Amino acid sequence: DDGDHVPALVIGSGYGGAVAALRLTQAGIATAVVEMGMAWTTAGADGKVFCDMLDPDHRSYWLRTRTDQPVGYFLGIDANKSISRYTGVLDSEKFAGIRVYQGRGVGGGSLVNGGMAVVPQRDYFAQILPSVDVTSMYDTYFPRANAALGVNAIDTAWFETAACYRYARVSRDQAKASGYRTTFLNNVYDFGYMRQEQAGTVTRSALASEVIYGNNFGKRSLDKTYLAAAAATGRLTISAQHVVTAVAPASPAGYTVTMNQIDTAGRTVAVKTVRADRVFFAAGSVGTSKLLVAMRAQGQLPNLPAAVGQGWGNNGNVMVARAQHLWNTTGALESGMPAMGIDNWSDPAGPVFAEIAPFPAGTELWISLYLAITKNPNRAQFAYDVTTGSVGLSWQTAQNQPAVTAAKRLFDTINRAQATVYRSDLFGVNKVWGDDFTYHPLGGCVLDQATDNYGRLPGYPGLYVVDGSLIPGSTGVNPFVTITALAERNLEKILTTDVS
Ligand code: FAD
Repeated sequence: DDGDHVPALVIGSGYGGAVAALRLTQAGIATAVVEMGMAWTTAGADGKVFCDMLDPDHRSYWLRTRTDQPVGYFLGIDANKSISRYTGVLDSEKFAGIRVYQGRGVGGGSLVNGGMAVVPQRDYFAQILPSVDVTSMYDTYFPRANAALGVNAIDTAWFETAACYRYARVSRDQAKASGYRTTFLNNVYDFGYMRQEQAGTVTRSALASEVIYGNNFGKRSLDKTYLAAAAATGRLTISAQHVVTAVAPASPAGYTVTMNQIDTAGRTVAVKTVRADRVFFAAGSVGTSKLLVAMRAQGQLPNLPAAVGQGWGNNGNVMVARAQHLWNTTGALESGMPAMGIDNWSDPAGPVFAEIAPFPAGTELWISLYLAITKNPNRAQFAYDVTTGSVGLSWQTAQNQPAVTAAKRLFDTINRAQATVYRSDLFGVNKVWGDDFTYHPLGGCVLDQATDNYGRLPGYPGLYVVDGSLIPGSTGVNPFVTITALAERNLEKILTTDVS
């Protein structure tokens, strides 16, 4: 509430924020989480909390009057539709050269994502974060993160027979026949539940085209794991629909945090100021970077280092689809949770880790869709614009060319070997590559550059960064396990040395 004083305040409730909330409350510290999105607990008129991909409504997008689907076209025709403006669960945040998809709500990205829980390759992790002890990450923090997230492995024998993974088997067989290696991907979606969905004994979620706008069943999102465990300590409060707008030093100590309480139309209904002894920035790569860059430019946190706002990347994301031969059906029923990837990361000529993505249209379309993660070296910066009072991102669409080049090399080889072609109707008119959006924003407040080696902001004792902004633009795999494990490592250090 306005005027409150709290020992610890966490901005955002995604992976970094959820780890901070659990470890702080377990250490006996009363913790307030402030989240701009909604608490997704109440069913709508249709009896469901979330809408599906086939019929998106007001619940799908964050304050938009038209959907902005990642695969936005079909047969070259705009597949988006009008919706009413509402604080929906998926934000497509538009910058000059890229749209950045992010989850909005208690649980952050865990509400909307594909649940793929992938530990990065050890030598690549050592390259991207050279100041971090690799042994303790792989012996302690990655296992700790996987356990707390509820990660599970697919039953590989079931995978071979399940109708809902025919699309993945078709892509796998063609990748193998073209000389590539594939790998199963762990997930936080309960594969036991999915098996029952396939058997027809429970209400379908992943098998009912649910993903990106939320899952009504089966998904172990953060509200069911880390945040539920934090709440069970009795020391957690979560304020949903509160947007943090400013953080500044308070006198004699601590920080004042200013926030707007909003309604479901995004209108401010109250402005509140809270004092906190410690503030954990967990608003995501974009949210944390924007907030800190603005605070430095506006003079609230003038001594933040120049590296704040630098080193942003899109994890080399690029999407592409292939058209299958008519005899090679991908199936009318596709699980929304991917379970397999093509792993060509060790190829020095163009590392690619391509997740075999669903196209859950509910009807046979002969489409093989992929989200490729590549080693794109390009980075961008956040900068404050005095005339608009907003923070922009310098990324240009052309900076994604290295990602397209690497993915093209792999999928050209598969197309040649299988005598198939690209779909050029899904990302625009005559456009093969989905190269102007990302699901994996990373960086902007890089560990050991913008912060110290544990996420502390230099010059401001009690301010910490704990989310994806710490990771320098790339992890080589889907990022949430890396974000979670790094937050576990940093929180352990902070709790033992700063808070006692
Ligand atoms: P987030 O999870 O983004 O959390 C930040 C939170 O802060 C949000 O809830 C936001 O609303 C809130 N916030 C922001 N600004 C403010 C503010 N000013 N005041 C208050 N609150 C604020 N990754 C994987 O590893 N596997 C996958 O399968 C996968 N699939 C994905 C699919 C989609 C459609 C998307 C969008 C992402 C996917 N990702 C996946 C990426 C993954 O979800 C993100 O990397 C992860 O959520 C980032 O965690 P974070 O803690 O950095 O921030």
